[in-house]
Amino acid sequence: MMGINNNESKIINGKNYSRDFLTHISDLAQKFENLLNRKPCLAVILIGDNNASKIYVKNKILTAKDTNIKSIEILLSKNTSECDLLNEIYRLNNEEKVDGILVQLPLPNHIQLEKVVNSISPKKDVDGFHPQNFGNLMLGNDTVVPCTPLGCWYMLKKELNDLTGYHALVIGRSNIVGKPMQSLLIKENCTVTIAHSKSKRLAEISKKADIIIAAIGRPEFITREFIKSNSVIIDVGINRNDKKLVGDVKFEDALKIAKKVTPVPGGVGPMTIACLMYNTVKLAYRRNNQMFKEILY
Ligand code: NAD
Repeated sequence: MMGINNNESKIINGKNYSRDFLTHISDLAQKFENLLNRKPCLAVILIGDNNASKIYVKNKILTAKDTNIKSIEILLSKNTSECDLLNEIYRLNNEEKVDGILVQLPLPNHIQLEKVVNSISPKKDVDGFHPQNFGNLMLGNDTVVPCTPLGCWYMLKKELNDLTGYHALVIGRSNIVGKPMQSLLIKENCTVTIAHSKSKRLAEISKKADIIIAAIGRPEFITREFIKSNSVIIDVGINRNDKKLVGDVKFEDALKIAKKVTPVPGGVGPMTIACLMYNTVKLAYRRNNQMFKEILY
């Protein structure tokens, strides 16, 4: 019994954090509606029939509804041309009452991600992927922060408060998770190491890290050999293993050795959606020249 309670106190509960955060966001969305006589509005484009993508989009739409945010779902066939998709995005860019645009990834192979990312107006870029917003993040300026790293950052701040001086290891260098995560941690005065598929002696490096952000996409890759005792581990990975979801971290090993760890599911996932709602409301205020007081920083 002792053991179970002890383990429970080690789990970073992303569901609880996201619930609290969404309550604030919902209040902000309601205030926006009181001011502008309409709800903040998020447009979500889904191309094709990838089952995982359909579930992600459904969750986003349901959360928006519960958070006083209007959503528009645009479903396009998997054969939609790049040109037709870009035209749809331009139409939404010019739609006065649309505050945020999200194109669900992954895209079909015939559509270039870079073109899609660049075509979304930076003022409606809820994912924070546009070079202008991304560049501002790298510069440490005020910007729209990509949802998943923002959710990881939120949980780390709640758990550790001051991150100054911690050695943080980010495993994965993607534009969606690894690179923006690195910027957020530098801003928090961490000593940041970024590792990737070509890194050597990863376990050795990882064993020295106070914080590990695992964004690799390999089921239970981070085992006991990688984990320093008393470290804090954020598991971004979502992998389907024998029909169950597992992260990039072997959860049982992390529970035994680390101080804190996020579970999969129930860790980074719910916070990512909450941060999407946050970015939508933030952009809605900004686009409509309404004062938006950051509740995060
Ligand atoms: P990605 O494939 O773009 O990047 C993976 C990164 O891992 C790459 O930079 C690669 O260099 C690195 N990598 C691969 N093998 C490695 C190895 N053996 N050692 C060290 N590094 C290695 O993936 P991504 O979009 O960054 O996503 C990473 C994971 O996070 C995936 O499982 C994805 O499903 C998940 N994800 C979850 C959320 C969420 O909301 N929870 C959001 C985004 C991504």
